[in-house]
Amino acid sequence: MAEFKLEAIKCKNCGSGLMVEVNDFVTYCTNCGSGFEIIDGVLQPIEVNFANAAIRDEGEMVYKPFWILNTHVTILERTSSGGFFKNLFGGNDGSGGDIKFYIPSFYAPVDKLKELAYTFTQKNPVASPQKYNAKLTGYAFGREDAEKIAEFILISFEAEKSDTMKTFRYDIKFNGYEILGVPFYKQSDGRLKDGLLGIII
Ligand SMILES: [Zn+2]
Repeated sequence: MAEFKLEAIKCKNCGSGLMVEVNDFVTYCTNCGSGFEIIDGVLQPIEVNFANAAIRDEGEMVYKPFWILNTHVTILERTSSGGFFKNLFGGNDGSGGDIKFYIPSFYAPVDKLKELAYTFTQKNPVASPQKYNAKLTGYAFGREDAEKIAEFILISFEAEKSDTMKTFRYDIKFNGYEILGVPFYKQSDGRLKDGLLGIII
């Protein structure tokens, strides 16, 4: 994207100019590492960190933002038991637990967004996010969109694990919001390959 807002936005912590693309929901200060969610034009602090690439590849590396949603899910009622919750909650009875959802915040084809969210949420590949002096832009989805996508992922996990699901009622509490920059390698065909799990979008 080549379009940028014309008005200058400055970091509330260090005063550096911030780069904001049109319709961005979040901005990150590469000077001091502060992150801000833009809510009705006002900067609200939000934690922004980056993942270290685990895969080496050729091609330019770019960082793409994900929402990290820290949630607590309680299963109120279900008539069949999928494997997803047992996997995520470490083999308990599957009645609920904490789930960290990884929800892409950037534009990509819907099936690719789902694959990324699905696989990253299951594998939870970023144990120790860090501060980098890296550019991070292109936030297409705000936190309310991210919450809806997380619920969609939750339901589709459950539905796809069972042919016989009749009832699935749950309660989800969103306890924390962060942004994670995930490294992607630009492929020669213009697609992107993530540097953690190797998913090509
Ligand atoms: Zn700053």
